[in-house]
Amino acid sequence: MTRYEPECIFCKIAAGHIPASLIYKNDHVAAFHDLNPVAPVHVLIIPLEHIASLSELKDGDSEIAAQILLAARVVAEKTGVLESGYRLVFNNGEDALQSVGHIHAHLIGGKTMGWPPF
Ligand code: IMP
Repeated sequence: MTRYEPECIFCKIAAGHIPASLIYKNDHVAAFHDLNPVAPVHVLIIPLEHIASLSELKDGDSEIAAQILLAARVVAEKTGVLESGYRLVFNNGEDALQSVGHIHAHLIGGKTMGWPPF
């Protein structure tokens, strides 16, 4: 792992330095239950390496970006929402209310949702 921010809570979770309710991990990403779920299924998928936001993704990060999306399918299967449906949300930046500066996809499911999401 090349990029690590000692003050970043998701870096600490990725490194196993603080506990999380982990449901999936491979060489690129980890997935764990959100502390404050907004739906019956609410899982965060993060890259193990520190990347602050989608806006910071570089061309060389394409494998990491793909791994986040591929992990979503695994998480959906593990949490039982693969067939019923789920939403993948990236809050990016201030207007989107991103509160943790380490890329994370919210995988949300287990209920019928509304649209638009604001
Ligand atoms: P954001 O608002 O899109 O940045 O989402 C950050 C999410 O991280 C929120 O839904 C929080 O509930 C969640 N969160 C913050 N700290 C932790 C933690 O230590 N474990 C699990 N989820 C966390």
